[in-house]
Amino acid sequence: MWSFETDPDHQAELDWAAHFIATEVEPLDMLLGSPFDRSDPAVAAHVRSLQDVVRARGLWACHLGPELGGQGYGQLRLALLNEVLGGSSWAPTIFGCQAPDSGNAEILAHFGTPEQQDRYLQPLLDGEVCSTYAMTEPHAGADPLLFTTTARRDGDEWVIDGEKWFATNARFAAFLIVMCVTDPDAQDPHRRMSMLLVPAGTPGVEVVRSVGVGTDRPGEGTHGYLRFTGARVPADALLGEEGQAFVVAQTRLGGGRIHHAMRTIGQVRAAFDMMRERAVSRSTRAGALGSLQMVQEQIADSWIEIEQFRLLVLRTAWLIDKEQDYLRVRKEIAAVKALMPKVFSDVVSRAMHLHGALGVSEEMPFMAMLSRAEVMAVADGPTEVHKVTVARQLLRGVEPVDGLWPSAHLPSRRAAAQARLGATLEAGVVS
Ligand SMILES: Cc1cc2nc3c(=O)[nH]c(=O)nc-3n(C[C@H](O)[C@H](O)[C@H](O)COP(=O)(O)OP(=O)(O)OC[C@H]3O[C@@H](n4cnc5c(N)ncnc54)[C@H](O)[C@@H]3O)c2cc1C
Repeated sequence: MWSFETDPDHQAELDWAAHFIATEVEPLDMLLGSPFDRSDPAVAAHVRSLQDVVRARGLWACHLGPELGGQGYGQLRLALLNEVLGGSSWAPTIFGCQAPDSGNAEILAHFGTPEQQDRYLQPLLDGEVCSTYAMTEPHAGADPLLFTTTARRDGDEWVIDGEKWFATNARFAAFLIVMCVTDPDAQDPHRRMSMLLVPAGTPGVEVVRSVGVGTDRPGEGTHGYLRFTGARVPADALLGEEGQAFVVAQTRLGGGRIHHAMRTIGQVRAAFDMMRERAVSRSTRAGALGSLQMVQEQIADSWIEIEQFRLLVLRTAWLIDKEQDYLRVRKEIAAVKALMPKVFSDVVSRAMHLHGALGVSEEMPFMAMLSRAEVMAVADGPTEVHKVTVARQLLRGVEPVDGLWPSAHLPSRRAAAQARLGATLEAGVVS
């Protein structure tokens, strides 16, 4: 059965969320800095009061199941909500589903022991703290088998040494989830690493610096360059089993990638709306910009690309709900991840261009959006790697042709058809 309709109850929640964000949350985007910086008590109190409104409405942490205080929305209904949240940088925090905490909560829920869930997951779900996921290293990112940060056992402790890079929000986080080599000699290279939970402030953990992206000004960066020098955590700091880091990472990144894509739809639509408004508001002597055919082509192309992308995202979300296993939907998630930065960048570039000098100025949001699009092509793995995943899966199980000619070779097919039906057809024609 196929349906492209949103059920009326859910639509009512989406409409409420859109109105609440426009009136209460978007002003925060204009006035405040990072949603993860809880150091100002006045800001924290205001944020908490907005979060309470969302909780009372029953829209808090919708990515999680009811046993963890969420709505158990599933990915498809979450996708529709995330589209609404995506247009505002503060909205995910106000609705309790901001990256990277949402993904970290997912793996704590999935792999954490009851003690770990009490200590780390609960404050995360309550919105009291934020967290960091530290996997990438300065010398290697796209190929995790090259990571060298180690954790070695010393009595009932793990001792961590090495460096991590671009660990988002490290300077605000209450704890880090760190991917470390724990068994360098394991025969299966994918069993060499484990995930460890490291509380912020652990001696031997240093934020060397916080790196910014795109239009961030010096000092605004939130991506931690981390150094671990003999940092000690207890043996029970393992998240999941020893050697299971790749399984944990896949669980986390699968969800993270599709959630980014859902929110990206909201941002691309916002750029598209700006483009349409400009097209009917600005004129040359030939008429409104929107009456010019080249502009019309850009508007049509943008809408078509957004709709194609959105359908792929929604179908992938639907598949995740159906399969209940990110690995079984790996191809689709990788395809979404590969397409996301292209659609984002193409539409924003056109919208920016249509605004002329104003578009490239710091008085419009396009440059910041463009840098976010570029970030989407790298963070959570570069586009090339995701395309390789898609292609490998699509080639899996395809049989090579027997002989010189492709199976669609027309002379060969004609000859086969002749051999099978020629005599019958000729007999029919003669009689
Ligand atoms: C804003 C932002 C936030 C991030 N947050 C986090 C975080 O919280 N935690 C974390 O651990 N990491 C984080 N990252 C890091 C991110 O996951 C890595 O940047 C990413 O995996 C790529 O690794 P790299 O930067 O080392 O690039 P490299 O691995 O050096 O790759 C560089 C380029 O080489 C090419 N390339 C690499 N491999 C292939 C291939 N197989 N085929 C073809 N071309 C290839 C691609 O063009 C790629 O862009 C973040 C990154 C950004 C930009």
